[in-house]
Amino acid sequence: MKRGVLVAGSANLDFVVRAAHVPAPGETVLGRGFATFPGGKGANQAVACARAGGAPTRMLLALGDDAHAAPIEASLRAAGVGLDAVRMRGESSGVAFVCLADDGENAITVAPGANAALRPDHLPPLAGVSHLLLQLETPLPTVKAWARVACRAGIHVALNAAPAQALPRSLLDDCQLLIVNEGELAAITGEHDITAGLDALDVAAVVVTLGARGCCARVGSQYLLQPGFAVDAIDTTGAGDTFCGVLVAGLSLGLAYPAALRRASAASALACTRLGAQAGVPGYEQVQRLLA
Ligand code: ATP
Repeated sequence: MKRGVLVAGSANLDFVVRAAHVPAPGETVLGRGFATFPGGKGANQAVACARAGGAPTRMLLALGDDAHAAPIEASLRAAGVGLDAVRMRGESSGVAFVCLADDGENAITVAPGANAALRPDHLPPLAGVSHLLLQLETPLPTVKAWARVACRAGIHVALNAAPAQALPRSLLDDCQLLIVNEGELAAITGEHDITAGLDALDVAAVVVTLGARGCCARVGSQYLLQPGFAVDAIDTTGAGDTFCGVLVAGLSLGLAYPAALRRASAASALACTRLGAQAGVPGYEQVQRLLA
C-alpha cells in the first residue's frame, strides 16, 4: 500500500426503527418497521473511504464476543476495507439504537461495548499509511495516543470531532484536519458564528458540514464554501460519515481541498437518498454522475 488510509475507530451494529417523529424526553412513540444495519462512525467512514474509489483503506476496529461481530466485519469486507480487528473477550460488540423519523431526522443512543476497550497499543504498524482518520467514539486517551504516533511518523491526521467533547490542545496539535458539523463546532469552540468558529480552532484545515446547505472550510488562511447538492433526502444517518470518508480518500489521492470537498458533498448528499449508514454509501460511479 503506497498511499493508503487507515481509519481507526468505532464499529457498531445499528438497530433502526422508523417512526413518525423522534420521541421527546419521556415520550414513547410507536414505530413501524425494524432492521439492523452495520454502523459506527469509524466503520461508516472506512466504507465510504473504500467505496470512493482508488484509496486503499484499512480499519482498526474492536469486535465483541458475540453474534453482532460477524455482520459488522462482513460489511467492511464487502466494501473492500482491509481489517485490523481486535477481538475483545467478554465484551459485547458496539450497538446503536436509532430512531429514524419520517422528516429524515434521527435520534441515536450508542452502547460502545468493545469500542471502549481500544487502547493505544492496538494501533497496527503504519507502513504504507499516508492518512489516518479518527473520530471520538473510542476513548479520548487512545485517540490522542494514535494521533501522536501517526503525526510523529509524518502521517496526515484527520479528526472528525464527533460526538463533540472538549478537545485537548495536544490532540489538536497532532491533527492537520478537523471535521465537525455546526453543533459540534459550537460545542467545541463556544462560537455560534461559523467564521469565528473556524478561526478559533488552531488546526491547519477545519471543515464544517452544514447539512443540506453543504459545507464550508478554512484551509490555512483561505475560506471555501461548497453548496449542498439537491436531493430527496429520506435518511441522513451516516451523511456526515460518508462526507468524512470521501473527503479523506480524495485528499489521500492528491485532490486539492475544493475538489475533495465537492466530491465529499456529492457523496454525502447521495447517502441521504438511501436507508442505512453503510448501505447508503454511494459507489464511485454514482458520485461521478452527480458531479458530471
Ligand atoms: P449525520 O450525523 O446525520 O450523519 P452530520 O450532522 O455529521 O450528519 P451534516 O452536516 O448533517 O453532518 O451532513 C454532512 C454532509 O452531508 C453535508 O455537508 C452535506 O454535504 C450532506 N447532506 C446532509 N444532509 C443533506 C441533505 N438533506 N441534502 C443534501 N446533502 C446533505
